Amino acid sequence: MTTIASNLQAVRDVITAAALEAGRSAIEISLLAVSKTFTPDALREAFHAGQTCFAESYVQEALDKIAALQDLPIEWHYIGPIQSNKTRVIAENFGWVHSVDRLKIAERLSVQRPAHLPPLQICLQVNISQEASKSGVALSEADALAHAIAKLPNLKLRGLMAVPAPSVDVAAQRLPFAQLRKLRDQLNQQGLQLDTLSMGMSHDFAAAITEGSTIVRIGTAIFGGRDYHKG
Ligand SMILES: *Cc1c(COP(=O)(O)O)cnc(C)c1O
Repeated sequence: MTTIASNLQAVRDVITAAALEAGRSAIEISLLAVSKTFTPDALREAFHAGQTCFAESYVQEALDKIAALQDLPIEWHYIGPIQSNKTRVIAENFGWVHSVDRLKIAERLSVQRPAHLPPLQICLQVNISQEASKSGVALSEADALAHAIAKLPNLKLRGLMAVPAPSVDVAAQRLPFAQLRKLRDQLNQQGLQLDTLSMGMSHDFAAAITEGSTIVRIGTAIFGGRDYHKG
């Protein structure tokens, strides 16, 4: 087995164990491979080990990989920052966007989603633990934004995404994930139908699964450490 294949298997095993411990079924949890900075060959290797969903954070890098891998039936997710002038290529090339945090961006994605494609699947990114990161809508503004996005015709609001401040303590990791789940439940009580919690990365995905994650976004644990200087 290649390193990527055995890493993937190890991640799947942790997902299964964490689900079991939480009294959940592992099939409720999707594994999204975060492939930013890695080469098309690395993705191809993961694909041949059974991984079909990949996430990218930088638009140009993603477009290059999508072109290089068009022979494979990959489901592409966008999880990075979104500038207004990039919404069209995002709407044209991805199945999911997890990092929507402004109505203006959501409106552009809806208008620019090509008619021959199914609705773009959307997660609203919430700044749950007031971390240094500027991404994510504030908790106090999440309700209004979620209801507004849910009305846009060519988007399907599936749920919420968060990137909490890193912590090595499992109890501390669980807190922001529980907050995100509570927000999802509140929105559903208000009439939305959100089935997705996109939460959990390499260092904290077991805690995220304990708190109800349905998509874990894993990079390092599958592909190894990222080298941002390699170009
Ligand atoms: C890079 C990234 C990940 C993956 O992080 P790892 O720690 O490598 O698993 C997940 N989510 C987002 C939004 C990211 O930018």
